[in-house]
This record gives sequence, C-alpha cells and structure tokens, in this order.
Amino acid sequence: MTRVVVMGAGLTGLSAAYHFHKVGVAAAVLEKGATPGGACRTTSRDGFRFDLTGHLLHLARPESQDLLRAIGVRSALRSHRRRAAIALGGSVTPYPIQINTYRLPREIRRDCLLGFIEAHLGRPDPETQPRNFLDWVLTRFGDGFARHFFIPYNRKLYRTDLAELTTEWVGRYVPRPELADVIDGSLGLYRKSVGYNATFLYPREGGIQVLADAIAAKLPPLRCSCSVRSLRLAARELVLDSGEVVPWDTLVATAPLSHLAEMTADLPADAREAASRLRAVAVVNLNLGVRGPAARREHWLYVPEERFPFYRVGIPSNHGRIAPAGCHVLSVEASVPTGARVPPDLRDRCLEGLVELGLLRDPADVLTVEEVRLDPAYVIFDAPRPRAVAVLRDVFRASGVMLAGRWAEWKYSTMEDALWDGAAVARRLTP
Ligand SMILES: Cc1cc2nc3c(=O)[nH]c(=O)nc-3n(C[C@H](O)[C@H](O)[C@H](O)COP(=O)(O)OP(=O)(O)OC[C@H]3O[C@@H](n4cnc5c(N)ncnc54)[C@H](O)[C@@H]3O)c2cc1C
Repeated sequence: MTRVVVMGAGLTGLSAAYHFHKVGVAAAVLEKGATPGGACRTTSRDGFRFDLTGHLLHLARPESQDLLRAIGVRSALRSHRRRAAIALGGSVTPYPIQINTYRLPREIRRDCLLGFIEAHLGRPDPETQPRNFLDWVLTRFGDGFARHFFIPYNRKLYRTDLAELTTEWVGRYVPRPELADVIDGSLGLYRKSVGYNATFLYPREGGIQVLADAIAAKLPPLRCSCSVRSLRLAARELVLDSGEVVPWDTLVATAPLSHLAEMTADLPADAREAASRLRAVAVVNLNLGVRGPAARREHWLYVPEERFPFYRVGIPSNHGRIAPAGCHVLSVEASVPTGARVPPDLRDRCLEGLVELGLLRDPADVLTVEEVRLDPAYVIFDAPRPRAVAVLRDVFRASGVMLAGRWAEWKYSTMEDALWDGAAVARRLTP
C-alpha cells in the first residue's frame, strides 16, 4: 500500500486530502498549526473574529460551485457585489481606477487621461512583449495612471524595482480597458462590473475559517500541532519536531518552497542555488476591533500614496458578522521584506494614516489589535523565478514530493486555485 502524506492543512492540503479520501486513499495530513486553514484561518479576540488577512472567495470557474456544495459549505456562504475603492489625492473613487477617475482631483484625472491617450496613440504592436512590469504599465495605461497608482502601489507592496518584475502574474488580475471606457470612467459614466473580483462569497457567520473547517469535517482526524522539521529525499522520509520519522511514497508538500528547500537535508547543490534565488515579501496585517459603526461602506480600499505605510485597508465587518454589536473591524495590510522585522513605529503610523483617511475617527476607539505576519505572502515574479522553480520542482518530484499551492509552487493564486491545486495533485496521483 502506498504511503501518502500531505504536509500542510491549508486549503490546498485539505482539498488534496479530501480528493484522496473520495477515492479511498488514506492520506496522513501533518499540520504545524493548532487548527487547519493555513492563511485562511480566523481567530477570536475580545468578541471579534479576525481573518489572518482579508480573505474573500472570488470564483472564476463554474465547477467551483459544485465543489463548494460537495464540501457542504456553499449554503454557509453569502454572495456580495464588490464595493472597493482607491483612496488618492484626498478623494475616494471606485475600483478599478482605470475606469473610475471621475472622483479624483482634476489634476490627477487629467494626468491619467492624457497619459492613457498618449499611450493609446503610441500603442505597441500587440505582438511585442513588454520588457517588464513597469514597461507593461507605462505602455498599457500611460504615465498618469502609472505615476499616481500603479507605481507607488506596487512599489509599496513588492518593495522592489518594478523593472525587475515580469508580467506573468498580471493576466486576469489587472483589468485593461479600452480608451472609450477610460473616458467614460473620467465622467462617471462607466457602469459595468469588471475584474476577477467583481463579486465574492464570504461566510455569513464565523469568518473564512468556515471553509477550512467544512473540508476538515469530511476527513479523518488531521494531525495538527505537528510540525515537519526536515525532509530526507533519498530516504523518502520526514522528521517531525517531536523526532518521529514519517516515511512517504508520495508527499504532497504545501509549505512555502523556500522553507521546503531549507529543511531538506540532502538537497543537491544546484537546487540549493535555485532556492537562493526565490524572492518574496511578507505581509503584516493589523486587525483592529473598533468601537462604533464603520466610517465607510466599502469592503476594501487600496491606498497607493507613499506617506501611508499600508497599501490596503479592509473593512470585513461590512460583509461578515464578525464584530460585536455597534463595532466594526479594520484590516490594515503593510508589506515588509521577507524575514525583516516589523518597524517599531508601524502601528502608530497606521493609526495616524487611518485617521487622516477618515477610516478611524479616534485611535481611542480601537478596542483590540491583533498583529499577524504572513511570510512569505507575495512571491516576487522576477526573471530568475521560472527556472529556479522548475529546478526545485523536478528535484522534489524525483523523490515523490509534489509541490502544490500558492507558496509551494511559488506563484500568485487564490483560495479557489488552492482548492483546485489540491484536487489536481490528488487526481494526478490516483487512478
Ligand atoms: C495578504 C493576502 C491576502 C489574500 N487574500 C485573498 C483573497 O481575498 N481571496 C483569495 O482567494 N485568496 C487570497 N489570498 C491567497 C490565499 O491565502 C492562498 O491562495 C491560499 O491560502 C493558499 O493555500 P495553501 O494551502 O496553498 O497555503 P497555506 O494556507 O499557507 O497552507 C500551507 C499549510 O502548511 C502548513 N505548514 C507550513 N510549514 C509546515 C511544516 N513545517 N510542518 C507542517 N505544516 C506546515 C502551514 O501551517 C499551512 O497551514 C491572499 C493571500 C495573502 C498573502
């Protein structure tokens, strides 16, 4: 009988275990956290429920509805139409900015329009590949959108020179309008919903944890609080923090690729060199439980300007019942280089920024704060990434280790993708 081990009970690992279970393959699930869910966990504190960071379920694949029903969670989820915005130049305008400049100060609106028209006139041959993300932004959206939004926002998030980023990841995530749409957007005439996140699902009660708990409930007991310390590829065995040795024929690994490489004792030199090329940023999320009603109706706001230390603020109590009566939740996301310490003044600067944006009336209204760090959070798509990932994937696969999920595959992807990544790896390995 082949021994199947799943490392990690985030959505990818849970979905893999669920799909193995469905065809009668018993997979042992090892999870270092005390509860399942990984990045999609929810904690409770002082009557508030906090998702580790804002997690909304955007579905791009029709078959996902069936999967959610099979898991038994669909009826617990409510559908919402996105209310997202950009806070810029002392104004707030709906997302995406490309078709919604009408609420911005006139000077910014003019820069965006003029730049878009200039870029449109000099439009590159569609066959010409952009050299990098910065080039892509400038040639697709023009100087105004780039200067006011794309450059400061992405610099704040990725903390890297945007000319070092490739464009592999932008695909469905950055809406690309036509000139007429941009002009309509500058006049407040654009009405259609656009983008991969125009609607989303979220649990009526309980936070995003509901999703992971529903899958876990369909499985034999998971081994939580069970951390893998090291992997030995040649022997096909792993060692837990407790010292227990667990052999595998197939290991589905969902922990971050950089961590997997570090913990593998017998990783060949070329793979170790490849691992040294993996780059990412961490996210520090401040979950604030705040007295009083939320100042705004949006579900989340993007904040590109450099003077604010955060790049995004969520108001998850606008879509889930996660705050005590008369209170609300703010989720304030900042990025820091992976492995770097959190600046000691970050919390104070965030509170000041929230007050300046009108999202917080008074810091004294903050009843509770939970600081969460996700590291890595966003993989940096640079030129060495594809080869480095391929080298590592092949080395691991040769020893029966299948990399699955956002961080193990070192990519940009969603919770829906995680569910299908888990399904795909299980289906590949079973008849
Ligand atoms: C800031 C941010 C916001 C996001 N917002 C959204 C959103 O709104 N909507 C959306 O769809 N997606 C969102 N995502 C993406 C989403 O979080 C991921 O796609 C998804 O959680 C990936 O799941 P996973 O199982 O692959 O990884 P994880 O959730 O990280 O699961 C991996 C698991 O492995 C465990 N593990 C790690 N090391 C070990 C070890 N040594 N031993 C045992 N176990 C181990 C971890 O504890 C974890 O439980 C967001 C991501 C970030 C960073």
